[in-house]
Amino acid sequence: MAATVVGGLGIPLIDVLAVETFVFREQPFGGGAVAARTVVGQVLLSDSTGGVLLDSVDGGRYLISGDDVVSRFADDAPFTPVTAEGLGERLLEELPPGFRVHTTEHYVIAYDTSREYAEWASSLLESLQEALVRYWTRQGLELHAPRFPLGVVIHRSAEDYQRIARAEIGTAGAVGYYSMRTNRVRMFDLTGSDEVRGGARGPRSGSRREITQMLSVPAAEPLVATIVHEATHQVAFNTGVMQRFADLPLWLVEGMAVYFEAPNAGSSRGWRGIGKVNRQRLVSFRRNLPKWNRNSLTSLIGSDLRLRDARTAADAYADAWALNYFLIQRREEQYVAYVKTMADKKPLEGPEANASASEIARDRLAEFVTHFGPLPELEQEFLRTMSRLK
Ligand SMILES: [Zn+2]
Repeated sequence: MAATVVGGLGIPLIDVLAVETFVFREQPFGGGAVAARTVVGQVLLSDSTGGVLLDSVDGGRYLISGDDVVSRFADDAPFTPVTAEGLGERLLEELPPGFRVHTTEHYVIAYDTSREYAEWASSLLESLQEALVRYWTRQGLELHAPRFPLGVVIHRSAEDYQRIARAEIGTAGAVGYYSMRTNRVRMFDLTGSDEVRGGARGPRSGSRREITQMLSVPAAEPLVATIVHEATHQVAFNTGVMQRFADLPLWLVEGMAVYFEAPNAGSSRGWRGIGKVNRQRLVSFRRNLPKWNRNSLTSLIGSDLRLRDARTAADAYADAWALNYFLIQRREEQYVAYVKTMADKKPLEGPEANASASEIARDRLAEFVTHFGPLPELEQEFLRTMSRLK
């Protein structure tokens, strides 16, 4: 998932502490009836037509246009983030019957699959978060603990997951996603995925044995990597590595998540820790190298297009991984400084709404060059390093 920047909202409010209740219209993806949603939160930004960027008490961040606001009223209550218990109750209210809640230090996991699976997933998420925070803190980033308990939903059935994913984000292509709006990760129990079961039907229990078996199947690797990838976004946006709805280049947002996702076949955790070569992405990157041309690097840095377009995304994600890998390994200090600059970007700040693609690209490239130096030298070393990487 990536930030969408909408121009026009840019007037910070002075009185930001009061809580407001918003009722607004919401159009589900793929059509369907417009529903009214009620959100209690704090207005971060507002515009002259009544549009707002709103942080909800359960960690959501909603960009609401003035036309969609049905009603709003303020009270004197201070903004108090929901407790883990409160988030658990909310999740159970929203989800169909049959869900239960498993709470850990940072996560509230609602699941209708086995308790063992929820426990396995939560220990993966906790160790991922710990590793990421340790990594970035060591690099000199000043992170904070998540302000909200982090919500995760695990569906037992892939079909249930896909139905909700289609309505919520408009696609069901992957096995999990992080929503910047709701701040939650949604996924399904991978022991039931077709890739892992190879078409086998029949009962499954999500037992510890099935999880171990699932992790021993090579086909599970990219699936677990996707879960780690989405969870990495959630950690990054909740600990201060980056801000939701800030104008961030997608090669960084996505390439960084791919950098951290590197999977580990055969490990009981399914994830090998930070900084390992992502074999799958390296293979894609190398396969595409003959097509690399003088626009490849500038278009990757200057525009989000190749990463957003479904036809080019798989290749562009491999390129973004390669660039992040190279910069982290070979330009560590500059990379951290660049990430810090990005971490300071505020929601909806950035280019004017009417800025052209070439103006945006020019600014992004200039920001990149300021940190990493002239492109030609860097590109040469990048290509040399990545083609020799073992
Ligand atoms: Zn992503």
